[in-house]
Amino acid sequence: MSPTKESDPHSKENPFKTAQRQLDEAAALMELDHAAHELLRWPLRELHVTLPVKMDNGTTQIFHGFRVQHNDARGPNKGGIRFHPDETIDTVRALAAWMTWKTALMDIPLGGGKGGIICNPKNMSAGELERLSRAYIRQLGSFLGPKKDIPAPDMYTSPQVMAWMLDEYSIMQGQNEFGVITGKPLALGGSAGRGDATARGGIICVREAAAALGLNSKGSIAAIQGYGNAGSFAHKLGAELLGMKVVAVSDSKGGIYNPNGFAYEHAVAHKKQTGSVTGFPEAEDISNDALLELDVDVLFPSALEEVITERNAQKIKAKIIAELANGATTPEADAILYSNGITLIPDLLCNAGGVTVSYFEMVQNASGYYWAEEEVHRRLEKKMKTAFYSMQQTAQTRNMHNRMAAYIVAVGRVTEAMKLRGWY
Ligand code: NAD
Repeated sequence: MSPTKESDPHSKENPFKTAQRQLDEAAALMELDHAAHELLRWPLRELHVTLPVKMDNGTTQIFHGFRVQHNDARGPNKGGIRFHPDETIDTVRALAAWMTWKTALMDIPLGGGKGGIICNPKNMSAGELERLSRAYIRQLGSFLGPKKDIPAPDMYTSPQVMAWMLDEYSIMQGQNEFGVITGKPLALGGSAGRGDATARGGIICVREAAAALGLNSKGSIAAIQGYGNAGSFAHKLGAELLGMKVVAVSDSKGGIYNPNGFAYEHAVAHKKQTGSVTGFPEAEDISNDALLELDVDVLFPSALEEVITERNAQKIKAKIIAELANGATTPEADAILYSNGITLIPDLLCNAGGVTVSYFEMVQNASGYYWAEEEVHRRLEKKMKTAFYSMQQTAQTRNMHNRMAAYIVAVGRVTEAMKLRGWY
């Protein structure tokens, strides 16, 4: 496997090109200073690491990983670590840039980072995953720290992975450094309310968007692509908090559909038992593509990038798209959805509940005092609503779609910090 495994730079579906094109559009609308624009098109730093890991069968396997720091003008870099066989440096660059915009839109004092390791965690034992996690931190140690760069869980990484990484970093420092990583288990300085925070933030946005459209969210119909942390909690909280009826969900093996809906507890139990949502006795199997085109009120893309593109955007029937996944929609699809009157809640806002509660976790780690779950929910609600309305107001006054409005708010805040620092 190539150490960089670059995506095709000419491909329209390279996520980093997408992130750059989104910024370019915002920069043109804002008449952004040329140097500021060029600086924001690229990560400030990136580290490529090569990791030897002893496998259970006695061999040593070599893995490749990355950490990208996009921009830290507003505060230390912050962003998750992904374990995925198809990870690329360009995906990580795009995700790091989106973290810069997300933390700025949420107005939390952090910058944007992201990490990834090319691996297939489904084929690795717990021991192999632990050795891989520790090897990654050993290589990255000097790049990370509570005041430099703070990772978190993301695709196929878990609180357990964060615990191993925290332990390795603490060993390197010779002292406990709980603030170096978030999304930790509660017993190791994690925050109450972090587990479902990404979905909870998204559900708050859906509630506000539905109210703005005059839709009654009670009894509204939803489909969810991806049934991991973000997607499965969207099912649970959508039903619990908004009275939603979820009729379809999916994972990497395929989807399931029942027009009468099905309970979160049943679908989760089936996935736990069989490893997938497919084959669920209370529903019929459907493809991931078909799920996206179902006639629903709310569609939650909650898995991978670039699933709504110019190829299928005209076929999307949902009234609200709540992007729990990062980069789910391409710029071409954004334009089509907007002209079709579909309300899109962009990833920068929709999944920002995760990083917001991660920030709360850092605050609690720094003070050594931990909040009750209700306190976390109350503060998250306030942050999500404030960001939602700053985006919505910009979209309305400038007559543009929500993603561009979110960019304009975020890029404005980051450039203000860069200007004050004298970076341009
Ligand atoms: P996860 O590993 O918990 O779950 C991922 C889910 O996606 C799994 O159910 C998997 O089977 C499914 N999946 C993988 N490939 C798929 C495919 N081709 N089609 C359909 N489903 C597929 O990951 P997660 O943490 O829930 O992350 C999902 C998305 O949410 C990612 O884009 C991530 O960047 C974003 N996100 C997550 C968080 C968080 O706090 N977990 C925060 C912000 C953004």
